[in-house]
Amino acid sequence: MKPLDYEEGGTAVQDVRKNDTNRDRRQSLRNNRFTKSFVKRTIQLLSVNRIMFSVPGSKCIALTFDDGPVAENTTKILGILRQFQIKTSFFINGKNAEKHPDLVRAMHEEGHTVGNHGYNHYHLEDYKGNLVSYFDNIRRAEEIIASITGKRSFLYRPPYGNMDLSIFLPICKMGYRIVFWNFDSNDSFIKNPALLASTIISAAPGPGSIILMHEDYNHTLQALPEILAGLRRKKVRFCSL
Ligand SMILES: [Zn+2]
Repeated sequence: MKPLDYEEGGTAVQDVRKNDTNRDRRQSLRNNRFTKSFVKRTIQLLSVNRIMFSVPGSKCIALTFDDGPVAENTTKILGILRQFQIKTSFFINGKNAEKHPDLVRAMHEEGHTVGNHGYNHYHLEDYKGNLVSYFDNIRRAEEIIASITGKRSFLYRPPYGNMDLSIFLPICKMGYRIVFWNFDSNDSFIKNPALLASTIISAAPGPGSIILMHEDYNHTLQALPEILAGLRRKKVRFCSL
């Protein structure tokens, strides 16, 4: 008996298979599109108010200082801020906070915001394959901040601004808003205090700007009074996050 091959009945079988394959493909495409749009919508929903590059709807400017507290610098920065009657935000590392709890307490008691910048200051790539350690690093800093100030922080700034989807949703689930910046003072590159101050002032950060600065640079500390005075001359108002 002639087996069913693709000379005669085969065409029908091929057609059925082709139809099945096409149907599967269409279904898979629909599922894929649905999954993609579902993921996109979920991320958009979760992202609302979860990521900050600026202070939306605000006319003030938020200065942010990263990587402290640092023994002498922080005390001096706090003194300058007190003198100008300005409130800012500090994104601190837990390991530094452990060394200088008094400085973290002073930030908090003087009305500045204390945000979480991780316990260590490692790149995200250093945690690839071991994201549990990344989240432990955040929690460890969170516990130290809470033990000093009496309340946990809900603001997190990832070291180096390193962020991807593998950590974004879990960090949101931990209750954090992720704070980036839309104005880099470039104090990692401009090490002359006068030049740093004039660069920031002439760039005139707009309303709602979040300015990235570093607490551990001496040139930033030296430039700070002129930065604040210069921005004040431009009628800038400051706020904490
Ligand atoms: Zn940092």
